[in-house]
Amino acid sequence: MPPYAEDPQDVQDPSEGPDPRRTAFAWTEAAARQRAEAGLVRTLRPRAAESELLDLASNDYLGLTRRPEITEAAAEAARRWGAGSTGSRLVTGSTRLHARLERELAEFCGFEAALVFSSGYTANLAALTALSSRDGLIVSDSGNHASIVDGCRLSRAETAVVPHADPEAVAKTLGAHPGRRGLAVSDSVFSVDGDKAPLAALAAACRAHGAGLVVDDAHGLGVLGDGGRGALHEAGLAGAPDVVATLTLSKSLGSQGGAVLGPARVIEHLVNAARTFIFDTGLAPAATGAALASLRLIAAEPALAARSRTVATTLHRLLSDAGLTAVRPDAAVVSVRAPGPNEALRWAADCRELGLAVGCFRPPSVPDGISRLRLTARADLTDAEIGRAVATILRTAPEGAAV
Ligand code: PMP
Repeated sequence: MPPYAEDPQDVQDPSEGPDPRRTAFAWTEAAARQRAEAGLVRTLRPRAAESELLDLASNDYLGLTRRPEITEAAAEAARRWGAGSTGSRLVTGSTRLHARLERELAEFCGFEAALVFSSGYTANLAALTALSSRDGLIVSDSGNHASIVDGCRLSRAETAVVPHADPEAVAKTLGAHPGRRGLAVSDSVFSVDGDKAPLAALAAACRAHGAGLVVDDAHGLGVLGDGGRGALHEAGLAGAPDVVATLTLSKSLGSQGGAVLGPARVIEHLVNAARTFIFDTGLAPAATGAALASLRLIAAEPALAARSRTVATTLHRLLSDAGLTAVRPDAAVVSVRAPGPNEALRWAADCRELGLAVGCFRPPSVPDGISRLRLTARADLTDAEIGRAVATILRTAPEGAAV
C-alpha cells in the first residue's frame, strides 16, 4: 500500500483495517508516552455549572463573570444584536456596541483610541505583526506570554529575547541595531510569578532609541492603577505617543475578547494592516455587551481593584509565613513553588479533593522550568474563604514545598 493512498480502503482488505504503525498520526502515541514519563500530561476537566469548588484558579479577578448585571448585559446584547457578529469587522461584524466599547475602553484606560478583537491572543498577534516588519527588530522579555512569542514569530522581524525584567538589556539590544524599526514588548504583569515589569524604565529605554513599546496588560486591567485603569495608567504611560497596550476582556472584565489601545493613527493602521483584525469574525455581541457592562461596573466601583490586590498580599503573607515559597505579588496572581511537575499536579489534585480549585503551572508553561501552584486573588473572596484556601494548601503541601 502506498504510504498516503487517497483511500486505504481502495488498496487494502477492509477487514484488516489500517496498519496502526503506518497511519499518519501514529507518532502522537510516542509523544504521549514521553509526556507521561515527564509528568506533563494535560487533560480537560469540564466543570459543572454549579461547582462546589472554591475557585482560586480562574482569571475572574473581580468576580464579575457571574454577576447578574453582567450576564444580563450579555443576554440583552445577544437578543438585540444576534448570537454572532455575522462577519469580519470590516464587513458586517462591527456593531455600535463594538464602537461604544472601544470608546469607553480607551477613555477609561487613558488612551486616544482602541480596537476590539476576538481574543487577547489575536490582539497581541495584531499589534506585533502590524507594528513591525521583516526588516524590523523586536526585543521581547523571556517571560512573555505565548501569544507575544507567536506574534514575534509571525511578524518575521528579528526577535531578540532578553533576560526577564531587564530594561538595560532592552536598551543595549535596541542600541546595537541603529536605524532598524524597533519595538520592545513585555507583559505588564507576568503570568507565572505575578511580578510587574519595570514599565517606566522600559519606556525610557525605548525612547532613547526611537523604538515603540507594546505592553500586554492582560493581568493589569481592573487590578492595577487608579480604580483598575491598568499598569500603563499607573506608570503614567497611558496615552503616550510611542506606547501601545494590548488587553484581554476575559480576566477582570469577566467576558471574552481582546483589545489594542494606542494613538489614533496606530489604531487606524491596525484596521488596515492587522490580519487577525481583517480576516477574523468580529467579537460576539454577548461578549462585547458583557465587557462594556463590566467596564462600567469597575468605573463605578473603584474599590474592586484595591480589594483584589489586598487579597493577593494576604494570601502571600499567610502562605510565606507558613514556610511556602510564594512570590510577593504585584497584582492578583500569587505563585507558590512546587518541588517538581508531578508534585505540583498531585498538590493541585489534593486541593481539589478538599474542595479548592488552584492552577497548576508546569513546563512548558514556565520559562524557568519550575512548577508552581498559581492562585487567583479574586476581589470577591471573603476572609473566611481566604483562610480556608490557605489551610487546604498547607494541609496538602508535598514534602519539599516548604523552605
Ligand atoms: N496575554 C496574557 C498575558 C494572557 O495571560 C492571556 C490569556 N491567558 C492572553 C494574552 C490571551 O488572552 P485571551 O485569552 O483573551 O486570548
